[in-house]
Amino acid sequence: MKHSTLRICSFVFLLGALASCGGGSNSEKSSQVIPSDVTIYGSCGNTPNYKNEILISRWKRFPITLYVDLSNAPGVDIGNNRSIYRNAILYSANNWSSAGNGIGAIILVSTPDADIVVRFGSTPTADSFGSTSVVFDGNYKKKATINLNLQKFSTLSQTIYLDYWLKITTTHEMGHVLMAYGHPVSTRNSVMFQGSSIEGPTLEDLNTIREAYCRVDSQSYPNP
Ligand SMILES: [Zn+2]
Repeated sequence: MKHSTLRICSFVFLLGALASCGGGSNSEKSSQVIPSDVTIYGSCGNTPNYKNEILISRWKRFPITLYVDLSNAPGVDIGNNRSIYRNAILYSANNWSSAGNGIGAIILVSTPDADIVVRFGSTPTADSFGSTSVVFDGNYKKKATINLNLQKFSTLSQTIYLDYWLKITTTHEMGHVLMAYGHPVSTRNSVMFQGSSIEGPTLEDLNTIREAYCRVDSQSYPNP
């Protein structure tokens, strides 16, 4: 879709945190039974991937929890819109878990004290639809916030565009939350490519998150 080129990413360092931004994408996925408290293992050698082009940072274990804060979402008082927002964000979160073995598993919760919070507000870059900030505990991620640009989303009056931009933006930001600080440059076949309009994690995306979590937890991962 032609709207996809407007996304601009910026990186803003905060106290003990990092922020990155971008857009994203997805494919179809139905709800699934998520195993509880999975220790992450996997087998390396998942190709093609772009793991060497991004700084990878990890959660210690999955599943992680997600809280969707729609209190600031544009038009959310219109009853039907609430499900559009919620469904699109869940769609993006669930798609990453198709990497398998519990990798990327996210559980929706109803309280703000979650590992990931998605909310509407301002972003560091006015032209960006979304940005992500992450707080670390040692080498692992402890908390992440995805900010969806209230001004940008307020301009999307048609449901089809709202749904589209919610999906590609939150899929991309979830990629930052789950594994990637940076963006791949050698492939455009990725939801993490800056300006991507792909609507779901590609094989390269899923291979990269598999690679990110294929090592045992004893290995040290430096903070980006
Ligand atoms: Zn990005």
